Amino acid sequence: MLERTLSIIKPDAVSKKLIGSIVSRFETAGLKVVGIKMQTLSKEEAGQFYSVHREQPFFENLISFMSSGPTVAITLEGEDAVAKNRALMGATDPQKADQGTIRADFAESIDANAVHGSDSPENAAIEIPFFFRSLDLCF
Ligand code: ATP
Ligand code: MG
Repeated sequence: MLERTLSIIKPDAVSKKLIGSIVSRFETAGLKVVGIKMQTLSKEEAGQFYSVHREQPFFENLISFMSSGPTVAITLEGEDAVAKNRALMGATDPQKADQGTIRADFAESIDANAVHGSDSPENAAIEIPFFFRSLDLCF
């Protein structure tokens, strides 16, 4: 199924100069970049983006981290893009992520875990417009 998904390269990975390495993994896996945008989120924006987690004990920490520096939001398109991106990312906790995944190779901790990826096509359809107007996406 041809899908779109949202990836975010998080502040830890941007500050470690990993943008190119991470985008290269997406492209090598056959995912196409159809939108890309760099920005530093405010705490409010990060909180809105991760609002499903607002009751979680880690919420404050998560939004402080996500607003701590520049991020790169990317819309990816391809066959089974949501699952393919999640497989490339690896588990939330880098200690538990499979070898060769982005989080195993580049992430420090469950907080600073290098990338975000939509977890379903339904959430991708909500998350992509959070960052991109439809006119900003290329075909
Ligand atoms: P993301 O949504 O960032 O792609 P994910 O889908 O793998 O990550 P979620 O359960 O959606 O994981 O959690 C969102 C983010 O909240 C995680 O990336 C992580 O940084 C943080 N987080 C999740 N669970 C914990 C936890 N138990 N302790 C600390 N931070 C956590
Ligand atoms: Mg998630």
